[in-house]
Amino acid sequence: MTTVHDPTALTGTAELSVWPASTTEPPHGDLTVGGVPLAEIADRFGTPVYVLDEAEVRDRCRTYLDAFPDTEVLYAAKAFLCRAMAHWMDEEGLGLDVCSAGELELAVSTGFPAGRIVLHGNAKSPRDLDTALRLGVGRIVIDSPAEIARLAAAVGPDGHQKVMVRVVPGISAGGHEKIRTGTDDQKFGLSISDGYAQHAITRILDQPQLELTGLHCHLGSQITSVKPYLVAVRRMVGLMSRLYEQHGLVLPELDLGGGHGIAYRPGEGALDLTALARRIRAELADACATAGLPVPRLIIEPGRAIAGPAGIAVYRVLSVKHTGDHVFVAVDGGMSDNPRPALYGVRYAPRLIGRRSAAERARVTVVGRHCEAGDVLAADAELPADTRPGDLLAVPVAGAYHLSMASDYNLVGRPPVVAVRDGLARLLVRRESLEDIRSRDVGL
Ligand SMILES: *Cc1c(COP(=O)(O)O)cnc(C)c1O
Repeated sequence: MTTVHDPTALTGTAELSVWPASTTEPPHGDLTVGGVPLAEIADRFGTPVYVLDEAEVRDRCRTYLDAFPDTEVLYAAKAFLCRAMAHWMDEEGLGLDVCSAGELELAVSTGFPAGRIVLHGNAKSPRDLDTALRLGVGRIVIDSPAEIARLAAAVGPDGHQKVMVRVVPGISAGGHEKIRTGTDDQKFGLSISDGYAQHAITRILDQPQLELTGLHCHLGSQITSVKPYLVAVRRMVGLMSRLYEQHGLVLPELDLGGGHGIAYRPGEGALDLTALARRIRAELADACATAGLPVPRLIIEPGRAIAGPAGIAVYRVLSVKHTGDHVFVAVDGGMSDNPRPALYGVRYAPRLIGRRSAAERARVTVVGRHCEAGDVLAADAELPADTRPGDLLAVPVAGAYHLSMASDYNLVGRPPVVAVRDGLARLLVRRESLEDIRSRDVGL
């Protein structure tokens, strides 16, 4: 086992930098979030359990609204959605970005105003479009040429629907190849460089029941520098300028998508939202002035940066195995509740909670309980060398793309979500039971 010789190196406030602002470290070794000890949540709700700090979610919404005045901020629901989350977004004045009839219907059926929802999707099903039209979704983002006639027919000659067009600006940005969506030659959007975007826009303008309100782009996810967004602004305004010359078209909106990067481990960089807002607005004003166009209203769509840092996954250690050079600490969850390390090689910094350990730190691999060697939650994690079965581990920055991507692999049942606020914990989503799983299994 490799030990890290300075046991104090990573303790103290630096280590809590990626935790919610409400996190405190009482002397007995537990951590509290939202005023509630995490070990108490584990006892009361069982493990694995996901904890969501409501105040952290709301603060992040307010940070966006403060940094981006005169901008429509849409929360990307695919990062994590439940009814409480939809209510919080509504109360904070954000809109929603959804990608399916399911996300859309969950939000609207709990009272979220449909007019503040934008529907995305590279392959929208007939049900997605029917649901969007039936519920009166604010805008639909067209992602392929075939969608135009289909949508126009579904809207009907007397109907009316606001639409945007997803444009591929030809920019490579994002934390991993699988989450880069702004480059040419991937499945999303219509490219500027091959003329598909311009062609699709001409066809939309031929459909009187479709009102084109603006262009949309989404460069990718986990982007930590401002630069790609500025390049996107230039290219999008370039296209807007050509559309003005060709069609006399002045588009009132510009949607720059999401993808704002966050720190998953202490010391990692996050996208600076204040700088992002300031520089996007300056670039947009400048590009529009040069093109002789009015400045469009800006729309942004953060998902991860709102939900991610507000969530914590709490697991119980089931076994500790020493093999050759490695120590495998196995917990009672894994790739079924967090597939991200296996999908994109994301790295996390789990932490022992519930007791204080004086042991020196050891480098370990935190693995799940599933039947795949790739079921790793945290490679190269640092935990006390005396970490043992029965201990609790907490993984911060677990609020986005964990449960929304969770599966029923090995039928362990998906974990519950518990909200914490002002010293109180309440269940938002209950644990999936064998009864839930069995009730869908209707054949013999
Ligand atoms: C996924 C997605 C987002 C949000 O991405 P984050 O990385 O979570 O901010 C925004 N817009 C679109 C179109 C998306 O597909």
